[in-house]
Amino acid sequence: MSTPPITQNATAETTIEAEAEPRSYGGYAGKVRRFALTVFRPVETRRLLSLREGECDRCGRCCRIGYVCPMLQEMEDGSSRCRAYGVRPPNCRKFPITARDLEDVEGRCSFSFRAEPALAATGGGR
Ligand code: SF4
Repeated sequence: MSTPPITQNATAETTIEAEAEPRSYGGYAGKVRRFALTVFRPVETRRLLSLREGECDRCGRCCRIGYVCPMLQEMEDGSSRCRAYGVRPPNCRKFPITARDLEDVEGRCSFSFRAEPALAATGGGR
């Protein structure tokens, strides 16, 4: 028995992917959740961030959640800058806080997250 060949049209896929890039992303609920986390639960926020891996590639997608932030400066090389970088709010500064936040940019973020350690290994989580 033979496996049918997988055929791909890289050019067509690349075009479709480029067209699928939204100007802004949904996710107001995530904004509210991150705001509450960073303001009211800073210790938990730091713990969650300790599970984060990777570095920001400055794609600017998190600056387009819900609306395009007026502080977003899109560069000719495709990267992004924040015009208010030094004074940006905590929920911008700390994005993404959990793997769930990646859904707000359709998974298109260079950060990833390690799995939560088992509660038993951390003394029951408290
Ligand atoms: S979406 Fe992720 S990689 Fe892109 S700018 Fe935001 S934090 Fe950085």
